[in-house]
Amino acid sequence: MTVTVQAIPMLSDNYAWLLTDETTGKTGIVDPAEAAPAIAALEQLGKRLDFIFLTHHHDDHVNGVPELVNKYHPIVVGNSADSHRLPKLDIAVHEGSMVDFGTARLRVIETPGHTLGHISYYIADGGILLPGDTLFSLGCGRLFEGSAAQMFSSMAKYHDLPDDTLVCAGHEYSASNAAFALAMDPENQALQRRAKHIQSLRAKGLPTLPVTIGEERATNPFIRAKDADTFGLLRMAKDQF
Ligand code: ZN
Ligand code: FE
Repeated sequence: MTVTVQAIPMLSDNYAWLLTDETTGKTGIVDPAEAAPAIAALEQLGKRLDFIFLTHHHDDHVNGVPELVNKYHPIVVGNSADSHRLPKLDIAVHEGSMVDFGTARLRVIETPGHTLGHISYYIADGGILLPGDTLFSLGCGRLFEGSAAQMFSSMAKYHDLPDDTLVCAGHEYSASNAAFALAMDPENQALQRRAKHIQSLRAKGLPTLPVTIGEERATNPFIRAKDADTFGLLRMAKDQF
């Protein structure tokens, strides 16, 4: 495993993710909502910042970028189609782009739905998925710009990833997502176990992420939805839950 990942809590329920290529020591931060917690985490490791990877343009994913750029001059990576509403990009990517990160590479997966220009990153070397606000533990992002059909096919792009892939999502929504998931799928024993585990982690103030995508496949009602219509109905039910 050459790339390791660490959650950096930001704002009230956001996570930025600190990536380290253990071979070269290169670092990257995914979706920094704030600069100060990112700087503190880097200083604790005695490191500078080499890359910023952005999943989408929302304030709670980009607002830390200007201060981090001023301090470290990292390479900023984001979707070329959204360059007009993202911070200034040094590498503009699209579906299938491969970004060199030390000795590892990030593969870009276009995942429209939450926003139209939303992208995810997958690092095979380390088994890490950075789905931003597309996939949460036991949930998925709200449809601010895209349709349910778009979001359904975006999530379907994760189907080929190995079961032990670590899902490093943009928010700590697991507890409220678990309540909805249990209401939809009350007999699911894997889900019941996971909901209990989430409760005990949150009671200790610990993050519930990352979680493996294999666990999500067994418990997340949005991943388990069999077609786009079912998915759309679930998403509407969750909005009103
Ligand atoms: Zn968002
Ligand atoms: Fe967000």
